[in-house]
Amino acid sequence: MRDGVHTMTFTSRIGPDDRERPPHAGGWQLLGALGAVDDRGAAIDGMSELVVERGVITTLRRQETAAGHPSDSHGLVVAPLLVNGHDHGRGAGTVLAGIADGPLERWIQSLQVHRGTTTQESLVGDACRMMLSAGVGATVICVNPQSNDTAGEVAAAAVAALNAGIRAAIVYPFADAMGYPYGRPADATGWTSAEVDRQLHSFESLTAAFDDPLIEFQLGPVGPQWVTESTLERIATYARETGRRVHMHLLESRAQRAWADQVYPDGLLAFLARIDLLGPQVCFAHGTQLRSDELSMLAAAGSVLTLNASSNLRLASGVPPILGAQEAGVDLAAGLDGLALGDDGDFWTELRLLRGLGQAQSGQRIGAGQLLEPLLGGGRRALGACAPSELRVGSVADFLLLDVSGYQHLLEEWSLADVLVAMGTPERVREVWVGGYRVFTRTPPAEPPTVGGQR
Ligand SMILES: [Zn+2]
Repeated sequence: MRDGVHTMTFTSRIGPDDRERPPHAGGWQLLGALGAVDDRGAAIDGMSELVVERGVITTLRRQETAAGHPSDSHGLVVAPLLVNGHDHGRGAGTVLAGIADGPLERWIQSLQVHRGTTTQESLVGDACRMMLSAGVGATVICVNPQSNDTAGEVAAAAVAALNAGIRAAIVYPFADAMGYPYGRPADATGWTSAEVDRQLHSFESLTAAFDDPLIEFQLGPVGPQWVTESTLERIATYARETGRRVHMHLLESRAQRAWADQVYPDGLLAFLARIDLLGPQVCFAHGTQLRSDELSMLAAAGSVLTLNASSNLRLASGVPPILGAQEAGVDLAAGLDGLALGDDGDFWTELRLLRGLGQAQSGQRIGAGQLLEPLLGGGRRALGACAPSELRVGSVADFLLLDVSGYQHLLEEWSLADVLVAMGTPERVREVWVGGYRVFTRTPPAEPPTVGGQR
């Protein structure tokens, strides 16, 4: 693969001042605030007042009203931005592109048919705009290059994310054994060390060129089965020396499980630990086929694991080990992998799916408090330095406003997280604020829905 840095042209630093953005001030009376804290770190719950000035939260406090609920709330609550802990930016979806779901390894081959028919910028831009419209204000984007110019494609993905206004960890792909769809042999040879260094240099050039709080570049060995041992080791060493974060697929499919067991009889995770690619700086995606001993290793290492339930179902990979991971104490995030069930960026349905699968595995109810906030916390770790700010006075505005009309009566008895996980939909997202800017608005329907009876 050739070094693409020389093909990039950065005429100037790309940053917020260069982008045209809508106004960044507002004020709301709200029926509730999820994840909001006061200046002592205590949770603010119940009816609240929120004010944003020049992109910064200047007021966020509980508000008592004699009428029982603020008359001008318009049924809105504020919540943290949803964080998509693993995605690729697949445009308006693979179905629209004519790519049918199917087992992962064959499905990846079918993606090649469409290679070159679209640009990285439109794939990532369309996907990010769709996510924002669903309330996802931050995402990991693992770049799938559409050409041989890897660095140029990674730059295009970053530009597209910035133009959409989303926070994004842009993952630079490293793959020098993709010629083995079902996994490389242990002694496969790939890039020379000079080529790996050239790729790392490209990665650093991008990091230097995009100085923006909304973007972080991460190292992306695409998966242990598609990257040679020497390249994995070099990336691990580089990450340790520089503090750069790593994002990597791990044991997503049955074929990858079989490969790992054959090539690493002493354990794939033991190998990753030995080369220092298992630690708090690493976020793994999928882990669909992880065993309980491996989940314990992830937990002990402090790595993040992003669950991708919809993707695993659509690509016949398996069911994510939600219960096992929770029992082992793994720090979890949730991801859409560009394959939400309806190809619509619907993170709310993804949360319900994860909750449902976890309940099916345990036979127990999973409250949203055990699910939503831990997953968003893991997602923020996956995002690294470009993660959304906390919902508190003095923070840059990073939040969504959701219309809970028709469900207000539940707020008296249910936690706000339980209400939102139960009824949240993209269509109910009214505003999305990212990095101090309102980047998405949706006009409510003329007649608010009356689902649930009481209004
Ligand atoms: Zn993926």
